[in-house]
Amino acid sequence: MKIGKDKVVGIHYTLKDNSGNVLDSSVNREPLQYLHGHGNIIPGLEEALEGKEKAESLNVTVQPEKAYGNHNKEMVYTIDRSKFDDPQNIQKGMQFQAQFDQGTQLLTVIDIKGDDIVLDANHPLAGRVLNFDVEVTDVRDASKEELDHGHVHGEGGHHH
Ligand code: ZN
Repeated sequence: MKIGKDKVVGIHYTLKDNSGNVLDSSVNREPLQYLHGHGNIIPGLEEALEGKEKAESLNVTVQPEKAYGNHNKEMVYTIDRSKFDDPQNIQKGMQFQAQFDQGTQLLTVIDIKGDDIVLDANHPLAGRVLNFDVEVTDVRDASKEELDHGHVHGEGGHHH
């Protein structure tokens, strides 16, 4: 069975940056299961998996435009330390939820210059070229309920 729209696909993946550092991997977990053709995974990976079958392996390089988008400098903010709940315990890499007009956003502390805390509201992988090693572990038809919901149910899916 080939991967196409409305198939439930299981993959094992390892995600590396351009220097070969592993950013994420499913290898010590259950395979990732997703519903193909519904935007459950980044577009560049979904496109590369189209037409593949169980047990196939592939290496995919995805540019930011087909992953988490380009890094937007207008989404980097400098905020005074005194504005934080726990001003003495702010460290690089910490993440905060913040309320914006458009909804809730995750902010990451990317730099600290004295009392200036630099926060980035971009996705942590925005602007990054992503290199995936992927193995297809399973391909099956989606159930009607899964298609109604637009995501996978059961093992490795939603609603555990
Ligand atoms: Zn559901």
